[in-house]
Amino acid sequence: MSGPAAYARFESVNGAVIHRLPLEAFPNFWVYAYLVLKDECRILIDCGSGTDPSHENLLSGLQRAGLATSDLTHILLTHAHIDHYGGLSQLKPLTDAKIGCHELDVPTISDHNEKLDSMAMRHASFLIEAGLDQETVDALLGIYRFTKSFYRSVPVDMTYEAHELQIGPLEMIHLPGHCAGHVAMRLDDIIFCGDMVVEGVTPHLFPRSISPYNGLDHYLASLEKLQIWSHGSRLILSGHDDIKTDLSTSIEASHQNIIHRMSKAVEALHVPLTIAEVCTAVYGETDGYQKLLVIEKTGAYIEYFDKHGMIEVVSDAGIKKYRRLGGIPDDGILSKLKYTVIE
Ligand SMILES: [Zn+2]
Ligand SMILES: [Zn+2]
Repeated sequence: MSGPAAYARFESVNGAVIHRLPLEAFPNFWVYAYLVLKDECRILIDCGSGTDPSHENLLSGLQRAGLATSDLTHILLTHAHIDHYGGLSQLKPLTDAKIGCHELDVPTISDHNEKLDSMAMRHASFLIEAGLDQETVDALLGIYRFTKSFYRSVPVDMTYEAHELQIGPLEMIHLPGHCAGHVAMRLDDIIFCGDMVVEGVTPHLFPRSISPYNGLDHYLASLEKLQIWSHGSRLILSGHDDIKTDLSTSIEASHQNIIHRMSKAVEALHVPLTIAEVCTAVYGETDGYQKLLVIEKTGAYIEYFDKHGMIEVVSDAGIKKYRRLGGIPDDGILSKLKYTVIE
């Protein structure tokens, strides 16, 4: 979501109150945190990036809802992406709230430097193997690190699986793919879906080869789980978009977006191409953070094609190239994607 976002207040069917707090996580890039008030629980879901504007928006949002940081009982994360957890460093000294995330996201939150270093190394190997030159790789890694450089590790007090995916009034479901420890949360008839569906685009993905519980197979399976689990919900509150009332339509739109991009990729692969070349064929010329995002997504598509026997590696002299096996299947990608989802 870009552009100014609006504060809003919602109520669940059983009278829980939710305040939506818009935070400018990065210049002109907004994220929502949600304050959930139910019985004695005062839960903050996600907390922005930790940049000064994001933190100031969070404090003023809490104030508007009539709360101080010291009133919070829990801070629970939908997933460990910097726009959702970065605010913990600045919040931690201001509150005794219990901090919670999924088990798989604990290292990112509580052992940040080590996790960042190991992830940066794996991203570097991927980008080199994708066919980018060293100078471009260094520039992209610089961007990758910069967005996370404000954060300082914070201990995690509670993890979701250990609490059987139920904390206070919130029931959760583990949905890996976009992030290893991504969860959706349910409160009565309201779903907090994090970044599972993002209006108009595919949520960010990178290959599972970079980090476990990431990648397209996990993401597609998670979309299907979310579809079933959210049945009967009335209101969907997302990390970046305005409210949704029909999650099925958003899930189908995400599906169609992926199919559209993957169809372009598979068309281009009638000749041997590196991942970087496929990326240009699918997304055109990009640079900066956008280039990093789209080349990682392309890597996730190529990993999927490879795993499902749709492409072959034709050159491996330091740089891998890939080529499509057979002709363009009529609705081949569509049927394979559906097949994975139903599996
Ligand atoms: Zn995310
Ligand atoms: Zn996000």
